[in-house]
Amino acid sequence: MAFRHRQEIDTLPSYKQGKPAPRVEGRRSFKISSNENPFNPLPSVKAAIADQALGVINRYPDMRGWSVVERLADETGVKVENIQLGCGSTEVITQLVNLVAGKGDEVVYPWRSFEAYPIIVTTAGATSIQVPLTAGGSHDIDAMIAAVNEHTRLVIVNNPNNPTSTSVSDGEVRRLLDSVPKDVLVLIDEAYVQFNTDACTCVGMDMFREYPNVVVAQTFSKAYGLAGLRIGYAIGPEDVIDGMRKVALPFGVSAAAQAAAVASLDAYDELADRVNTLIAERNRVVSRLREQGWVIPEPNANFFWLPLDGRTDRIARYFEDAGLAVRVFSGEGIRITIGEREANDLVIDVCARIHSIAY
Ligand code: PMP
Repeated sequence: MAFRHRQEIDTLPSYKQGKPAPRVEGRRSFKISSNENPFNPLPSVKAAIADQALGVINRYPDMRGWSVVERLADETGVKVENIQLGCGSTEVITQLVNLVAGKGDEVVYPWRSFEAYPIIVTTAGATSIQVPLTAGGSHDIDAMIAAVNEHTRLVIVNNPNNPTSTSVSDGEVRRLLDSVPKDVLVLIDEAYVQFNTDACTCVGMDMFREYPNVVVAQTFSKAYGLAGLRIGYAIGPEDVIDGMRKVALPFGVSAAAQAAAVASLDAYDELADRVNTLIAERNRVVSRLREQGWVIPEPNANFFWLPLDGRTDRIARYFEDAGLAVRVFSGEGIRITIGEREANDLVIDVCARIHSIAY
């Protein structure tokens, strides 16, 4: 770049959007590369957008998103002062990092994990301390504790972790929280919480109630199927939420996103049936693949992970040829989102054919 700019941006990898479904002659193809919900929007959600948002798009939206905030406060039992919205949880995480970490400050998080973390931290001017996952794809909590020092401003726990889908246990997160100084915030990123079926998992809201330095981030993008509208939220201590509001993108969350979020909360029973279907599909696909001999860490989100190291790129080609856009992490592995049943059946078929190449 010829213009004067911040040199650290040069080293940043750009966020990569999941590939679209590949074109395959005469057959359906599927996009299972972005951990999206495969179901169409509910009619009640579309109607809420039409009724409440479309007619007022000449006006700025309610900047605080009161209809959503009050509703979330009712559901969770926290005060409205503890809730902040953003354009997806990506934005609330950005607000939090911008609030606490600048030049000379460190943010500790597991790696590999959500690819936005390094972008957000570097853009804030802070330094990423990436703590490698264990060989099984889980958070290495002891190593994360060891990485905390006087420069640390934030520690991120991603439960379940993207892309390995592994859950972090209640005991592990408590161990971390008990050892981190109370003036260092701990973010528990729960983008996929509704899919987490691990009986021992950490529950972010419990941690928020018990520890003074916990912030929980959740999203309407996954279980609620509103990825295209961009709305997520954080629940945290009042003073933290207050600070996040100061650095938030003004008018970031559209009226359509707010209307859809409230309608989705109203329709949660219906959406929960869909979540349960996706969980059952995940368990079906993963157990079939394990029968075929694939090694897969225990999944707790709407996706699972094939750790393939150096074989990753060779294997990736076969998914593409079969009409499946999956997420490829070169040299590491492949993340596969649970989609509609037909897509999942195709994953099982492709994996059966290529197992001998992978192992
Ligand atoms: N956290 C994690 C771990 C994610 O995987 C994602 C989405 N890919 C997000 C947060 C943010 O999602 P959104 O901005 O759509 O709410």
